[in-house]
Amino acid sequence: MPPAEKCALCVKNVYRAEQFQCFGLLYHVNCFRCAECKQALRVEKANRSKTGELYCKVHFKLLEERQKRKMEEEENNNNCTIPAQIIIEP
Ligand SMILES: [Zn+2]
Ligand SMILES: [Zn+2]
Repeated sequence: MPPAEKCALCVKNVYRAEQFQCFGLLYHVNCFRCAECKQALRVEKANRSKTGELYCKVHFKLLEERQKRKMEEEENNNNCTIPAQIIIEP
């Protein structure tokens, strides 16, 4: 018997009738929704984060912005030890 295929999100067995393929991975039809608003997603609207979670367009954008802000904050924290140089142009 071939090994049962598993959903990329909940890691439970996926039967053919309820499987959904996207990003080269298998999902339950019921699992294929935004991690934030739980809205069912369509392939063309789905976005996959680096951690493998799925997001709708809106929440993927929010997630990206949140990550960007976090990175910037970390950068700013790292820069705290470096004295700021203020150059005043005439
Ligand atoms: Zn699943
Ligand atoms: Zn969403």
